[in-house]
Amino acid sequence: MIIGAGGVGAVVAHKCASVPEVFEDILLASRTKEKCDKIAAAIGKPNLHTAQIDADDVPALTALISEYKPEIVINVALPYQDLHIMDACLATRTNYLDTANYEPRDKAKFEYSWQWAYQDRFKEAGIMAVLGCGFDPGVSGVYTAYAAKHHFDEMHYLDIVDCNAGDHGKAFATNFNPEINIREITQHGRYYENGKWVETEPMEIHKPISYPNIGERESYLLYHEELESLTKNFPTIRRARFWMTFGQKYINVLNVLQEVGMTSIKPIMYEGKEIVPLQFLKAVLPEPSTLGENYKGETSIGCQIRGIKDGKDRTCYIWNNCKHAEAYKEVGAQAVSYTTGVPAMIGAKMVMTGKWGGKGVFNVEEFDPDPFMDDLNRYGLPWNEQIDEALPVEQ
Ligand code: NDP
Repeated sequence: MIIGAGGVGAVVAHKCASVPEVFEDILLASRTKEKCDKIAAAIGKPNLHTAQIDADDVPALTALISEYKPEIVINVALPYQDLHIMDACLATRTNYLDTANYEPRDKAKFEYSWQWAYQDRFKEAGIMAVLGCGFDPGVSGVYTAYAAKHHFDEMHYLDIVDCNAGDHGKAFATNFNPEINIREITQHGRYYENGKWVETEPMEIHKPISYPNIGERESYLLYHEELESLTKNFPTIRRARFWMTFGQKYINVLNVLQEVGMTSIKPIMYEGKEIVPLQFLKAVLPEPSTLGENYKGETSIGCQIRGIKDGKDRTCYIWNNCKHAEAYKEVGAQAVSYTTGVPAMIGAKMVMTGKWGGKGVFNVEEFDPDPFMDDLNRYGLPWNEQIDEALPVEQ
């Protein structure tokens, strides 16, 4: 059962429907049923059904899950829904997977504590939750686990580098849910060094980083949720950072929006009604699911790691490049939705085929990376690796 019929939900539905030997029957449920119906019509498979659900209504969601009895719920709605969907999964003893960690609506703050707190309850219920199984978080954690398993005795420095060298032709748009995206970018930056978190001003640290097949792009240090789980699960890491590219025009527009108060999440009164400026801004921006057509260029996301193997220094860079136009041709979506939706399908497949097992709450790097890495090659996100070459992030 897939919850959320946005840019990512459409890709998950497409990819699950194309693996009927695992996903025999699929229910796509979201707040607006028409969006589910449109996706189902585009896919045109008889085993894909749709339903209306407000996932914040836990009793209604519990009833829907009880009626449909899925083996797993794939949550690709918004981070605000995570805990409600986990509650409904607990009530029905159903496995859970998501692509973004919980965020409270009234505070732009994301961390795993709220979801990790479900550990004992998931264990006792005999079910599993897989957290953060998109690209980053998601594939970034699997790449790191793969590097740890095959290339390092100890990993010391981790840089996750995320470049979107695409052009959607719109004046300003975000590649995933605008509200969540802008909340992420406008908060303080943060990275991990020698056991401590170092906080920066928003977008304070930046530098050009060279990406395969793309070249140099200005890249900004942001806080990203997988830094929290990766530094916990791989305690030899001394420094972990996350970098994302933004074009100058995007930053200029974002600065103006910020300065005039349009990115604020504090409610204001407008013509007698309370509105949240950022939610209003989301309503006027293009939806991520509509950006695919004519989107040129590609994404490049990877992990650059330095550490030791057999007593010698070692570097490793693992990455994927994904072209917007190819993603659009295959599933009618741009590459950011594609690179999130494909890993969500693969993660669900890992759980349903028993390749990833256990009871409790897990981050992706806690599982065997090998079958997942094989499936990335098989289902549209082939990866590359370079060992013992200079790391672009350090040049
Ligand atoms: P969209 O805004 O395109 O889609 C979100 C969907 O969720 C919409 O269909 C929306 O319904 C639905 N929804 C919202 N609230 C509810 C609710 N209460 N009950 C049921 N459905 C609801 O976002 P994206 O598809 O771009 O992103 C989906 C998720 O993927 C987000 O959590 C995002 O953070 C995550 N993500 C993760 C990435 C990764 O690499 N790990 C990268 C990109 C995204 P409606 O249409 O009615 O508004």
